[in-house]
Amino acid sequence: MDALEIMSHLDRVVPYYQPIFSADEHKIIGYEVLGRYIEGETVHSLGHFFHDEDTPDDYRCEVEDVIIRKALDAFLKAGRTEMLFVNRRAAGLLEDYGESFLAILDEYTEKGLRYEQIVLEISEADYSKSLDNVLRYYKTLGIRLAVDHIGEVDVDGDIRRFAGSSPDILKISLQALRKDASDQTYKNIVYSLSMFARKIGASLLFETVEAEYQLQYAWKNGGRYYQGFYLSEPMPDFAQPDGQKEMLREKCSRFITYEKQALSSVYALADHLESGLSAIISRSKSAPKEKLLEDIAREFNEMCFRLYICDENGFELTPNYFKRDGQWIFQPEYLNKNWSWRPYFLENIVRMNKNGGGLISDLYNDLETGETIRTFSCPVNEHEYLFFDIPYAYLYDQDGLLY
Ligand code: CA
Repeated sequence: MDALEIMSHLDRVVPYYQPIFSADEHKIIGYEVLGRYIEGETVHSLGHFFHDEDTPDDYRCEVEDVIIRKALDAFLKAGRTEMLFVNRRAAGLLEDYGESFLAILDEYTEKGLRYEQIVLEISEADYSKSLDNVLRYYKTLGIRLAVDHIGEVDVDGDIRRFAGSSPDILKISLQALRKDASDQTYKNIVYSLSMFARKIGASLLFETVEAEYQLQYAWKNGGRYYQGFYLSEPMPDFAQPDGQKEMLREKCSRFITYEKQALSSVYALADHLESGLSAIISRSKSAPKEKLLEDIAREFNEMCFRLYICDENGFELTPNYFKRDGQWIFQPEYLNKNWSWRPYFLENIVRMNKNGGGLISDLYNDLETGETIRTFSCPVNEHEYLFFDIPYAYLYDQDGLLY
């Protein structure tokens, strides 16, 4: 099936619709329009036609237009109130500053379509400064913007590329997430994208959700929207919005239960440390600080690999007490170092002062060892704070601490 064959049978080019589900209502909030070519009983994807370098640009534009017109006809005819996610190539939009695409939409707004129902998907790799003006204008009309295929071409793609056009939705594929190869790099990228999305007021859409664990991952990582075979494949018609509501609600309840159990394990650990440490601290009140660290290390040998005390401004008042190859050693070079520049440091000091107790951190990678760890911190007295680093090996052995 080559490009010419498709161009001479445009009547066989049809839109398919893949539902997009929302986490807040557990129902379909929109459909991504995907091009298909029907040959007898066989349904071909048009992915190859669109991505093949040999396909002439005007062919692509023409087929894009055929698909969106057919989709909009069907969408209006069915009286849909959801959104329609439409893929568009930046090159095609830039050719006439987005006018022909808008002209098509305008025809349909006269028939009852609202601009707010259109989500324009542009691939991250396609973003460029020259697109900003077109996209900003679309946004003033109410058209929503989604950045598609984030991180797929270029793992550390420059987010400044699309930040200028204030996207409403960031689309991330879960294809890279394999069950057995827990790709930490990928997870870290997703984490930073979710922080970034929150800062710019965009929502995360996870696509290629193909198994339950991926849905759980998407839910846990701030995914507001989900799309993929696990929920629904692309179909020639618009799926019923409430069709998966019960199933999603039930899955979500299970994720919540699991997450709450994991959180309570983390807080149980914090309580255990808090009571154990405060006993040692009050016992060693008048002893030198280094002695306190030694006492703690003796009692918590398995749970800890690094200990130190800072003042409220983040200056270290002790050397680091560090377990290297099973042996505890003092590292005097850390005395007087300042850690106030570290994320959450001062905020945590203020929180400890306010609630008078200790805090347990999220999972993060230690700067020196590269291991995934947690840190417990608690006040030693009014102006001094103990930092207690918990090694991966310990977290790994306990249920729920690495989740
Ligand atoms: Ca897409």
